[in-house]
Amino acid sequence: MIETVEGFRKELESARAHGRTVGLVPTMGALHAGHLSLLRRAVVENDLAALTIFVNPLQFGPSEDLASYPRDLAADVAAASAEGAAVVFAPPVEEMLPVPAATSVHVSGLSEWLEGASRPGHLDGVATVVAKLFAIAGPCRAYFGEKDFQQLLVVCRMAQDLSFPVDVRACPTVREPDGLACSSRNSYLSGPQRSAATVLHRALGAGARAFDAGERDAAVLRRMLVDAVGSEPLATLDYAEVADSRTLESLEAVGDSARLLVAARVGGIRLIDNVGVEA
Ligand code: AMP
Repeated sequence: MIETVEGFRKELESARAHGRTVGLVPTMGALHAGHLSLLRRAVVENDLAALTIFVNPLQFGPSEDLASYPRDLAADVAAASAEGAAVVFAPPVEEMLPVPAATSVHVSGLSEWLEGASRPGHLDGVATVVAKLFAIAGPCRAYFGEKDFQQLLVVCRMAQDLSFPVDVRACPTVREPDGLACSSRNSYLSGPQRSAATVLHRALGAGARAFDAGERDAAVLRRMLVDAVGSEPLATLDYAEVADSRTLESLEAVGDSARLLVAARVGGIRLIDNVGVEA
């Protein structure tokens, strides 16, 4: 377990100097099966796997759950170690962000709709701290989940545009047996809310089945997502979108592929999910 930027940088530099490849798994902790699937892949594909835990204040809005975000460092370190992580980098906030930064990373276009519209500044906060992590870690493979599909695309674009020597790898969404995507925020849900939360996955499933049956009108597919989420009394829709898989721009007519994305609140807890469709 390393808490300092310099300590983490040196550890990874030393591994590479000994010819070892590095896999990086950035997280905010409260580890669940989704995080551990990323870590497992990093362990298999690299000589050294490093998990980072940083509840990034830059990606929380003023009315969001920064203070109450679930934290359990001891359990996370034990889980990461059991999964084969050689290093856990868990810097205190004052180590990662010692002074109010004057620099921020904004990926234009991609960051401006969907999550960008619903959570102003969120994706800039993610891109800025992931850029810092990449700058500290150096050459590596970095693992991100499709669960946060827009974030994944933002990180890929940021790494490409800023020439980070980082190979960003996308990992499939891990789900609970009833389809709910694993998320640290699921722990906030009460029993009835937990059942209602499966509506995101059910809505995406309905949309994907309609696509598979030949529906290519994005407005019709979008309406199916809206109606499905609307059928759950405990859920309030934030957005439902049928988007281009690379730019996440809203589509009118769907071609051979698209990304279906939904965001909804269940009992005040904001949940997101998405699925790819392909002919
Ligand atoms: P977080 O701790 O929520 O910032 O997530 C850290 C990383 O884990 C991100 O790359 C997420 O996309 C990924 N992740 C979160 N939930 C899942 C999931 N259910 N399946 C796969 N990856 C996930």
